[in-house]
Amino acid sequence: ATPTALLVGTGRGAQLGVLIKGPEVLESTRKVDTIVLDKTGTVTTGQMTLLGVHTVEGVAEAEVLRLAGALEHASEHPIARAIATAAAKAGELPAVEGFENVPGLGVQGVVDGHAVVAGREALLNEWSQYLPESLAGAKRRAESAGRTAIAVGWDGEARAVLEVADAVKPTSAEAIAALRALGLTPVLLTGDNRLVAEAVAAEVGIEPEHVIAEVMPQDKVDTVKRLQAEGKVVAMVGDGVNDAAALAQADLGLAMGTGTDAAIEAGDLTLVRGDLLAAADAIRLSRRTLGTIK
Ligand code: ADP
Ligand code: MG
Repeated sequence: ATPTALLVGTGRGAQLGVLIKGPEVLESTRKVDTIVLDKTGTVTTGQMTLLGVHTVEGVAEAEVLRLAGALEHASEHPIARAIATAAAKAGELPAVEGFENVPGLGVQGVVDGHAVVAGREALLNEWSQYLPESLAGAKRRAESAGRTAIAVGWDGEARAVLEVADAVKPTSAEAIAALRALGLTPVLLTGDNRLVAEAVAAEVGIEPEHVIAEVMPQDKVDTVKRLQAEGKVVAMVGDGVNDAAALAQADLGLAMGTGTDAAIEAGDLTLVRGDLLAAADAIRLSRRTLGTIK
């Protein structure tokens, strides 16, 4: 390889807002045929807002916000921030005892003497709490609209569903079309619910059969391995702590510069501005640079 061509490649990369770990990375860009995209924070902004509160009869919205808000205040998750911020606006948040974060599922702890749990329906089910039909309906409607439904229960009963959502980044659809034009098959990967994931996928032009949803954080890496076992050469784009192992496993790992340090350390490339368009630029540029070398 001619060192000059590589330098030009990496220098131009910096101009495009792409940091490349080393020249050997360029080689991987030629063969990739599949690009796995994390949903939250990668395809979407990751800046969640609370959009709705549904409660069972006899439970006030303010009480749900107070209990769930106090609990989520102790979590760093984007969903947690949305709920805690909205709750803090509505009133002062009590302290939490015995807080526990259950990765990929939700949070639990004791607030005002109540054992509170908030997160996926499956987490409440573990506590033998089941959504009554009214809340199950609210959850389904929220999810079909691309919103994440967070179930909230305390003292042994499911009592509310909170709707949170973020927005698809303005450049995501264009970037996904550009990646396709480079011959890559985009795949959407998320821990979120399937209905939510499919709604986001439809918005950015990814087919439902290329949506892999409800994946536990520790299983994201297995998804990459499975695609590789099928003979795919896999690029992965992600931003979260739970994307780090998958980024390292991928043939080409692209980290969002706006994401966590863990993701940036695990990636081969960093998209400095957190813009997916830079992923297409980076792959196009490295392929071209390789062309110059040969
Ligand atoms: P993603 O892959 O989209 O970044 P995660 O694996 O972090 O998602 O989380 C998967 C799901 O677990 C979320 O969609 C949410 O339903 C639930 N969850 C995770 N953390 C929390 C939390 N702090 N509060 C409520 N729900 C949570
Ligand atoms: Mg993410």
